[in-house]
Amino acid sequence: MESRRKFLQKMALPALALPFLPSPSWANLQKPFISPYQGPVLRVAIMGLGGYGTRVADAMKDCQKAKLVGVISGTPSKVKDWQSKYGIPAKNCYNYENFDQVKNNPDIDAIYVITPNALHHDQVIRSAKAGKHVICEKPMALNAKEGQEMIDACKQANVKLLVGYRMHFEPKTLEVIRMREAGELGEIKFFQGLVGFRVGDPAQWRLNKDLAGGGSMMDIGIYAINGARYMIGEEPVWVTAQETKTDPTKFKQGVDETIQFQLGFPGGATASCLSTYNMNNLDKFFLNGANGFAEMQPSTNYGPIKGRTHKGELSQPHVTHQTVQMDEMASIILEGKQVVVPVDGEEGLKDLKIIDAIYQAVKTGNKIPLKS
Ligand code: NAD
Repeated sequence: MESRRKFLQKMALPALALPFLPSPSWANLQKPFISPYQGPVLRVAIMGLGGYGTRVADAMKDCQKAKLVGVISGTPSKVKDWQSKYGIPAKNCYNYENFDQVKNNPDIDAIYVITPNALHHDQVIRSAKAGKHVICEKPMALNAKEGQEMIDACKQANVKLLVGYRMHFEPKTLEVIRMREAGELGEIKFFQGLVGFRVGDPAQWRLNKDLAGGGSMMDIGIYAINGARYMIGEEPVWVTAQETKTDPTKFKQGVDETIQFQLGFPGGATASCLSTYNMNNLDKFFLNGANGFAEMQPSTNYGPIKGRTHKGELSQPHVTHQTVQMDEMASIILEGKQVVVPVDGEEGLKDLKIIDAIYQAVKTGNKIPLKS
């Protein structure tokens, strides 16, 4: 009888032979009886080869439906490194000045923008004008006005715009959403979202208002806003918010250190959230309904996400968020797949409208109504 090893080797061969099939990973080799994926593959260029871009690139090695094929960077040495690390041909490498020429490159389907927040608006619009689908990191833009312009540009260019909301594909998160939708928690009353970390180097772009657009709220607070929306399953109708700053040297004017905010929902539920750049180990969601609860801690980091409900521990498997995200996004772009929690530009815009209102509430001390 054929040995298991030979059988596995045979199974891996077609993937090696076809240029746009993912390279065989250990995870894939562990599933010998599933025939190799032969459907369409989304060919992606990453723009911004920094910390998170590298994480996405590494995770994409295990994707079935998405493949890293190109880069856009201002640093030639990084481009060289990525070329050899990820097997990227020179014809798929661009810089920030010439990337509009990607228009003439039929081997790239989508651009994933993973640069500092303030650059997203212009880079997404240029990518759309070049006729490429765009995936943009969170926050999608600095404010709702920019976000709307990005949505309009992508519509006009007839390309899709998605936002890198990796938690929308995380199995334990999806289980809590399923339970809520099935009525297992009863009427939802309350959500608490605590998110933050102690930010390091004061010279980094995250603490530069011009590049970050704000402080912790833009970077990490957005997880509590987004989480409140997908956990409660409604759109908020009002916001109140309060800022505290203990280190005005590090957190300059317009760069928030800590903001607490509250959201009111049409069904009567409220959310109470904290976003900070000044506390470690803060990554907790709590959802309370009339008949049950769900709590997750950690709730938004790279995992494993941990959680329990009134029915017991959540036991869904840990996945590499970015691998699942990119496979799912390929299905959305290439096959029009409908997902449980959307990741489109409209979803990004909803969070930006709330961020705008939070900053307005901090400034005025008023309760700010939200229009959907
Ligand atoms: P980073 O500083 O590690 O990388 C940013 C990259 O952008 C660098 O390669 C840098 O060279 C490049 N860049 C281009 N123009 C620049 C400029 N004018 N100034 C500074 N850098 C410039 O940052 P990061 O952590 O990779 O974050 C990038 C984006 O990804 C941000 O929008 C961030 O919010 C988002 N992000 C998302 C997640 C997530 O889990 N979804 C995690 C981390 C970061």
